[in-house]
Amino acid sequence: MTKKISTANGEAQAAQTDAYVRISTHAQERWTERTSAQESLRAAWERSIRVRAPSASATEVRLYAPCEALLIYRQGALRTVLNNDGRIDCTALGVCTACENLIDPVQDATCRWCGAETETHGRGRASVVRGDKA
Ligand SMILES: [Zn+2]
Repeated sequence: MTKKISTANGEAQAAQTDAYVRISTHAQERWTERTSAQESLRAAWERSIRVRAPSASATEVRLYAPCEALLIYRQGALRTVLNNDGRIDCTALGVCTACENLIDPVQDATCRWCGAETETHGRGRASVVRGDKA
């Protein structure tokens, strides 16, 4: 599966192969324990915003904004789910005026959580740092 996404500077690159992401038992347990989300952890991973979390030991971190949950991907699998305690770099993110969840103003023409049109889109208020992933 080679789903394409656009990066902040407009180039296409292959996304993490979401369909095949492995989910550890630990992550699944933390997801159930720490969130009240109705959707599966896999579905949540696919919806969530890629964020920068310099202090986290992870290959990729995504924010599931409705539950303030951080999904931690490391060494080929989703390893755990943490409460967002402010460790992520939110400077490139916007806030949906309809649901007040954090969104990615570059990627989201409509809010990925509630579907509202995002007023931040295209306004260029966010300075996006290109995330170079190994
Ligand atoms: Zn929204």
